[in-house]
Amino acid sequence: MATATLSTFVNEPYTDFSQPANRQAMEQALQKVRAELGREYLLRIGGEWIATGEKLVSVNPSRTSEVVGVHHKATPELANRAVESAQAYFAQWSRTPAQERVGMLLEAARILRLRKLEFDAWMVFEAGKTWIEAEAEIAEAIDFCEYYAREMNRLDGPQPVVQLPGEQDEMVYIPLGVGVVIPPWNFPLAILAGMTVASLVSGNTAIVKPSSETPTIAAKFAEVLLEAGFPEGAFTLLTGSGASVGDVLVQHPKTRFVSFTGSRDVGLRINELAARHQPGQIWIKRVIAEMGGKDAIIVDGDADVDKAVEGVLFSAFGYQGQKCSACSRAIVHAAVYHEFLEKLADRAKTIQVGPSDDPRNYMGPVISESARKSILQYIEAGKQEGRLVAGDAPAPDGGYYISPTIIADVDSQARIFQEEIFGPVLAVTRAKDFEHALELANDSVYGLTGAVFSRSPEHLRQAKERFHVGNLYFNRKCTGAMVGAHPFGGFNMSGTDSKAGGPDYLLLFLQAKSVATKIG
Ligand code: NAD
Repeated sequence: MATATLSTFVNEPYTDFSQPANRQAMEQALQKVRAELGREYLLRIGGEWIATGEKLVSVNPSRTSEVVGVHHKATPELANRAVESAQAYFAQWSRTPAQERVGMLLEAARILRLRKLEFDAWMVFEAGKTWIEAEAEIAEAIDFCEYYAREMNRLDGPQPVVQLPGEQDEMVYIPLGVGVVIPPWNFPLAILAGMTVASLVSGNTAIVKPSSETPTIAAKFAEVLLEAGFPEGAFTLLTGSGASVGDVLVQHPKTRFVSFTGSRDVGLRINELAARHQPGQIWIKRVIAEMGGKDAIIVDGDADVDKAVEGVLFSAFGYQGQKCSACSRAIVHAAVYHEFLEKLADRAKTIQVGPSDDPRNYMGPVISESARKSILQYIEAGKQEGRLVAGDAPAPDGGYYISPTIIADVDSQARIFQEEIFGPVLAVTRAKDFEHALELANDSVYGLTGAVFSRSPEHLRQAKERFHVGNLYFNRKCTGAMVGAHPFGGFNMSGTDSKAGGPDYLLLFLQAKSVATKIG
């Protein structure tokens, strides 16, 4: 039962960078943030600033000589302290009226909106996002705040249940306890913000362990939460190594749930660790784990090939292919295979790669040297497994650049068809017919996103029924899920299908309590 009237949710519009005034404002934001690069960030637990001395340095992947932020790293002892402190504050926070928490979240959305271009600039510098990718991300972060505020408003108070004669019957949602939030670097603001505010607005306390690649964006978001009125005790940003600090947080007996987004291997490990009962633990931990993808776009024999080329191109190479939803397999009907491949390769060769602060570049760098090495190894393997039709172009110096790479005639057993590469590498495979295309698309341990370009209503109907992915799109790209419209999450090894940005999501952070009162 909603307890306050809020306006209907609408997605945050994007800043239009084709307008000179907006371009100028973005240049100014880049300048402002550039002046703040290289600052040192201390840890803060329970209101106390802590310098551990051991530091994590994040760099600009477009210009690796540029330091973005220097962050003090938490130790396992501090991780334990953070959980104890979050547990101590939980009693107070969980009893804070939901309407107050909702108010804080709407305030956080308002502040993010005011600081939009500044956040864009931080994402350009620390995550290598192009202007437009950064803008899409801040808009998504604002959407998560606005959407989950409305969801908590809906879930606050007694829910409708059957009333037995002679009784007053109620069901209410209550928070779980201490949550550990572990986001990836590829949506360093939107995913971190989404998982954090879902935890907090539901009345849980949270410890947020950001990715080591993007800790500064996390620190900036923590500033916003404090400014919006979320109390120090309700959340702790705990920068540190995933392996040491992450393990301690996940295993702590007072941890009640883990909200993770990242790779399959880390997700499986967290799931396993969280399942083990620890001395003193009095619950089964809940794990919400969103993991990798090997997303396919099917191009049918009757598809509009030009539209399919644009859809695949954007899905495969937007943010350098580093989206869990990125298209890494194009499965193309034999009737249009050659035409599609030729047009796609020609378009890919026009893509400009370079520093992401320069808006003329369609693609920026990949996130790190280790990511670059791993992607290049896949490209070498791919050259043996198929035919290179685009790629191997000289990349600019000074950053972790890789040119858009397309490998054709790839068999479904090939590593580049089966394994998540997480870079600008697309495998193209020929299908005999639509049935074969569906079989190939489903030949994966993952099931996150997928798309079909087809003019056949019957083929689209078959895909709706049998293309086994959490987010399916017809005649459009397979990236760019919108909060509210496309609740996001995948099947099989892509995770627990939590459907972020959808009406089921907050329930994962709550538990239902039934109260029956005898009347008379
Ligand atoms: P990752 O698994 O390497 O790291 C994710 C987070 O886990 C980071 O914060 C990292 O520090 C932490 N971590 C690492 N080891 C840990 C441990 N032992 N215990 C606890 N935490 C640990 O993933 P990444 O490279 O940051 O992100 C890319 C991956 O995320 C890709 O596989 C991508 O598909 C996936 N992803 C999935 C979704 C989705 O919604 N399904 C969205 C974005 C990204």
